[in-house]
Amino acid sequence: ASLDEVSARLSVCRACPRLVTWREDAAVTKRASYADEPYWGRPAPGFGSATPSILVVGLAPAAHGGNRTGRNFTGDLSADWLHASLHRTGLAAQPTSTYAGDGQRLEHVRLLNPVRCAPPENRPTPVERDTCAPWMRRELTLLLPSVRAVVCLGAIGWRAAWTALGDAGVDVPRPLPRFGHAVEERAGDLTVVGCYHPSPHNTYTGRLTADMLDAVLRRARGIAGL
Ligand code: SF4
Repeated sequence: ASLDEVSARLSVCRACPRLVTWREDAAVTKRASYADEPYWGRPAPGFGSATPSILVVGLAPAAHGGNRTGRNFTGDLSADWLHASLHRTGLAAQPTSTYAGDGQRLEHVRLLNPVRCAPPENRPTPVERDTCAPWMRRELTLLLPSVRAVVCLGAIGWRAAWTALGDAGVDVPRPLPRFGHAVEERAGDLTVVGCYHPSPHNTYTGRLTADMLDAVLRRARGIAGL
């Protein structure tokens, strides 16, 4: 299968009843500030280069972010932080990602979420994480030949990325390394880097600053030889 085929099949997945209800309800009730906008209301596929040197692995789309715009890390506060940093570090054409079709381009980077549908309170259950894992594995298998650095945003993204890498045939360390900000671990030709998730909870509290995020992305550039 090609990346386009994987994304097309993903877009009609209904394997998690709770998440299907949540994503579709959000698309009908909408947030007041987006009342006049159409909502995607489906799984959000990966976004960015089809032959990336750097993967950025998050958690799941937000009900009124990726679930609204149809593009992961697009149209919410986490997206504002991530894309501003990608732009500052020379990895994105523009500093914002507000809607699919806004002209944003990621030359060397692809953004993936291990869970592709918006979960209540941004918290997928373990069963939902396991149910969605094959989508990440399929996409990762197609991307691995070009990837040199994997940036994991948060502990769930870290665990999901290691699991998907192992499932895709990468020789991963056992037991799995512990997540931490700026922690690096090698696996075959790859280096996996931990980074706090740019969620409002982390950015408002100063746990993650713009400089910290930029430093991780610059490090990923260096690992990828860019
Ligand atoms: Fe399908 Fe993943 Fe969405 Fe579950 S979370 S319905 S497995 S795309």
